[in-house]
Amino acid sequence: MTLTDRDLERYSRQILLDNIGRCGQEKLKNATVGLIGAGGLGTTASLYIMAAGVGKLIIADCDVPGLSNLNRQILHWEEDIGRTNKAESIKEKLSSQNSDIEIEIITERITDQNISMFDGVDVMVDCLDNFNTRYLLNEFCVKNRKPLIHAAVEGFYGQLTTIIPSKTPCLNCIFSGMADKKIFPIIGVTAGLFGILEANEAIKLITGAGEVLAGKLLFYDLLHNNFDIVEIKKSEKCKVCADMRHIKSKKK
Ligand SMILES: [Zn+2]
Repeated sequence: MTLTDRDLERYSRQILLDNIGRCGQEKLKNATVGLIGAGGLGTTASLYIMAAGVGKLIIADCDVPGLSNLNRQILHWEEDIGRTNKAESIKEKLSSQNSDIEIEIITERITDQNISMFDGVDVMVDCLDNFNTRYLLNEFCVKNRKPLIHAAVEGFYGQLTTIIPSKTPCLNCIFSGMADKKIFPIIGVTAGLFGILEANEAIKLITGAGEVLAGKLLFYDLLHNNFDIVEIKKSEKCKVCADMRHIKSKKK
């Protein structure tokens, strides 16, 4: 799909950027991004991905907004509490911000049986709050060679990396066997900031602008303004990457 006059006006300020331009904007328009989780990370990530003009979003969440979500899940409002599903709630808000974008929602819990609904996406964004589903998402992305943007937040602390299957370490290489807490402390600014950083990685991956956090893990302690980026390496013991090597050698 080529850019319309309306696109050229709507995105004119970012088209002015040398590393986006009309060509980058067209890539955004023709891209599909999948997000799992319409909570603290997912509400901001989806808002900024969509505002940048990504053509299609597929968003999955099976929960309903509650009062204790509203300190951080910025697209769910008081009127949504108990009224609708989070993916549906986010779709309503996003559609009125940008009616040109196609939004598909999945309101079921993501399992190994239905994760194939993301088969058609170009980039996946991890907006989850648990490692159980993250490992499933990681396996899906490695197997299907889809770039995966990972963020996790707690309190005033967050981390971010971009996984390029077969090139960079996968999530299981970096964080194997993580246990999930049922309820953890979190303030909205951390989730919001990391959701925006995920959107930024998605925009760069699609347009080819700048560089993404491939093979690098970014940490940010917002309470003390400590920011760090460390190099990460593949784990020899990683079963997910080992399966990938097995598939590759079989193809040869
Ligand atoms: Zn791995």
